[in-house]
Amino acid sequence: MLIWGPKYFSIGLEIYFQKRANFLFSFPMTNKELWVSVLRRLQPTIKKAHFITWFQNTNVVAVENGLMTVGIPTEFALNWIVQHYAVKVLQAAQELNGEILKTDFKVELTYGQVGGNGVNVQNLFAPETEKKVRKVRNVNEVAVVKGLSSGKIVSQMMNNKYSLDNFVIGRDNRLPHAACCAVANMPGGIYNPLYIYGGVGLGKTHLIQAIGNEVLRNFPDKIVKYVTAEKFVTEVVEAIGKRNTKAFKDQYRKVDVFLMDDVQFFARKDSSQQEFFHTFNDLYDGNKQIVITSDRAPAELQGMDERITSRFGMGMVVELLSPDFETRLAILHQKCREYQVIIDPEVLSFVATNAQTSVRELEGILRQIMAECQLCDQVATIRSAAEIMKRMNKAQKIIGYDIENREGRVVAKNALDVLNIVAEYYKVTSEAIVGKDRHKNLMLPRHVCMYLIKNELGESYESIGDGFGGRNHTTVMHACSKTAKKLRTDLRLVRDLNAIKREMGL
Ligand code: ADP
Ligand code: MG
Repeated sequence: MLIWGPKYFSIGLEIYFQKRANFLFSFPMTNKELWVSVLRRLQPTIKKAHFITWFQNTNVVAVENGLMTVGIPTEFALNWIVQHYAVKVLQAAQELNGEILKTDFKVELTYGQVGGNGVNVQNLFAPETEKKVRKVRNVNEVAVVKGLSSGKIVSQMMNNKYSLDNFVIGRDNRLPHAACCAVANMPGGIYNPLYIYGGVGLGKTHLIQAIGNEVLRNFPDKIVKYVTAEKFVTEVVEAIGKRNTKAFKDQYRKVDVFLMDDVQFFARKDSSQQEFFHTFNDLYDGNKQIVITSDRAPAELQGMDERITSRFGMGMVVELLSPDFETRLAILHQKCREYQVIIDPEVLSFVATNAQTSVRELEGILRQIMAECQLCDQVATIRSAAEIMKRMNKAQKIIGYDIENREGRVVAKNALDVLNIVAEYYKVTSEAIVGKDRHKNLMLPRHVCMYLIKNELGESYESIGDGFGGRNHTTVMHACSKTAKKLRTDLRLVRDLNAIKREMGL
């Protein structure tokens, strides 16, 4: 059964469009508008005090040829931002203007002066409404944490990283997401109980915990209880064993929002089902919000009392479906932002094409790719992604890369081959690359070339130095480490390297 009012459908759409509004409608932006939008994206991901310390009085100086130059009022803040936030800045800027490929930071002393051009980041924060924080008694899964200005309630049972904002919305999960927003804004309202079902790894736990986190944020007075059916069963068994079922019951009767994850686990566990049934009824009668997740629709739950399953359908039932390609890709981009890594969009698109079953699988592959890149100081390529996927799932048929016939295609077998390919790619001559000229147009190909010979062919720094007109091995080392470092923040270079590696048959 699916009950869905137009009011909440419009909430879903509103959120969907809000998220994309900047991207779709706001060109052309001035530099300052662009920077304020970038800051707005960064702000929720950085602690308030840090955000103010580092980003106060910063601004975009210029955007030219894919390079966004950011002015920072002090050298100290500049170094910190470059080290800690460069990737986030680039990614946020790219979301707003797809043509930005690189960022650069420079000191702009005047930005910090009175009347200077720097953005006052204090204005980005909504005025804090004082929330009364009540210490929650006897429910040990929530803790009152003293925050910067007012107390903040966080849950020890739920993962704080799950929020409704970082849940990527696509065609197939817009409805469940909007339903969760409605419940988080009005717990105990008309969508009660909310029943979310869908296959493994599609975001049920993320959504149900996001509701809990959001309710605690919106209504610090409310008592939120998150429990998996499995844990609930253990608690029932323990309570029976210790003969203190009354205390157990009382604890659950106190909650305002009851979040029960993976309810299918109750199948054929009769006493737990009964206990849950009574808790459910009491809370429901008291207009408390109940949210349930399961791997299947209520009618398909087997080994469950029909009185219970019929109650699941009384409010709203929504299904989470496997995300389509665009949503999978958007999730990958979002996770890269969260983890602060840059991966070639082509590689992400290749992963999104191949990992179709669940978001957990998608995330697993991405994590593996990131780990390998970090450990080996490499950029992820389609080949490395294909190999990881094959390793994780031997039976998988990989679309878009022929892993079996790879060996025959490697064309760059020695340093000279690499040199010629790099020269051709950057439209310069091989002689110029190995020569002494330090012109900007030659430094980049030279460094890329050294990096590839070192990383792909495994040659020593000394022999590379010899090949490059008798350069010292420390020069080569420096070039390689500089390139590796740049690959963490420079999307254009990441793309160049992937394209060159493809030419090399890798
Ligand atoms: P389930 O409980 O349905 O098995 P989870 O909620 O544990 O799945 O989701 C698995 C992982 O996928 C989590 O890390 C979650 O954050 C992520 N995930 C699932 N759907 C989305 C989405 N739409 N946007 C962002 N992350 C998602
Ligand atoms: Mg789960």
